[in-house]
Amino acid sequence: MSDKQLATIAVRTGIESDSQHNAVVPPIYLTSTYSFPKLGELPQYDYSRSGNPTRNMLADALSDLEGGASGVVTSCGTAAINLLVSALLSPDDLIIAPHDCYGGTYRLFNTRANKGDFNVLFIDQSDPVALTQALAKKPKIVWVETPSNPLLRVIDVEALCQQAKAVGAQVAVDNTFLSPLLQQPIKLGADFVVHSTTKYINGHSDVVGGVLISKDAEQAENIAWWANCIGATGAPFDAYLTLRGLRTLGARMRMHEENGAEILKYLQTNALVGQIYHPSLPEHPGHDIAARQQKGFGSMLSFELAGTYRQLEVFVEALTLFSLAESLGGTESLIAHPSSMTHRAMSDEAQAEAGIKTSLLRLSVGLEDPQDLINDLEQAFTLAAEAV
Ligand SMILES: *Cc1c(COP(=O)(O)O)cnc(C)c1O
Repeated sequence: MSDKQLATIAVRTGIESDSQHNAVVPPIYLTSTYSFPKLGELPQYDYSRSGNPTRNMLADALSDLEGGASGVVTSCGTAAINLLVSALLSPDDLIIAPHDCYGGTYRLFNTRANKGDFNVLFIDQSDPVALTQALAKKPKIVWVETPSNPLLRVIDVEALCQQAKAVGAQVAVDNTFLSPLLQQPIKLGADFVVHSTTKYINGHSDVVGGVLISKDAEQAENIAWWANCIGATGAPFDAYLTLRGLRTLGARMRMHEENGAEILKYLQTNALVGQIYHPSLPEHPGHDIAARQQKGFGSMLSFELAGTYRQLEVFVEALTLFSLAESLGGTESLIAHPSSMTHRAMSDEAQAEAGIKTSLLRLSVGLEDPQDLINDLEQAFTLAAEAV
């Protein structure tokens, strides 16, 4: 593990590691296969599904940033989540997941549980009674997302890990919304960390990728075996691009946060903005926990549009600097309507239970000039206000 600060690790991983030509930036290895030194002697790499130098460099960088033993870079975040449940869960095992987890995670757990691959229980993990009752069923894994998507609910990872450990469960945290620069779940007691590197880690909305990092070296070896077995690993070119994106993570996260704070301040002044969901707000549930366990509040925020659905439509259509799109964490600002977009895989009842209303909008605040973003929101709110 490196003794350097996280932003430095992100910048420096693999720099000047090329011994053949002394290239400062490490080369990309696009090969599918590797020659054996001689008959009966195994090389370090034999086939790129099981190992590839470019992909492994990214895995090492991310594992270092999270303080894990090692990681597997996968073809997408969902593949990393699927890898974890494939490697760890048998048909009698139970996984506990938040009722407001990422829509694709919800669909994956639900569908595989319906097939009989394992059991799943979706609960409100911030409800101590529900959590205690669920833990009494002796789950194998507790799945955590904090802050959650799209309502930015905060879970006390340290406290949850202690409770989970007491019943013999392992804890996996989806750290996509903050990146290791703002939260390190393994330091808080988690056994696994998952990222959709599609989001902040790559940061440029041009790669779909994921990673599963294990705290424990033996677990990591088991996970790597399963990644090769089921073919979950990512492409070298994607790993190269993600490593390139990762180098600016420190600078990007700082600016994402600054811009997010400016937008938040502005939203609080507009009459068409109802409830705002962001962990930096003192009245936000879990604000104190976030202030303690996170190194920043992040730039994902959601709010209710306090108007008619027609006004919401006008508002969204009038925006020019917030693209109507799923995903998050890129340089460009995005707006999403969770109930019809990211969370449409959930039934109306499941959405209602998770608190996702049709008036809810989610922003991924990008790196544009914040005043331009505010001006854009302002003109769209003005049009929406006239649209009653
Ligand atoms: C996007 C996302 C995922 C899924 O990752 P993909 O790369 O799209 O497969 C999982 N969890 C969270 C929190 C996400 O935002």
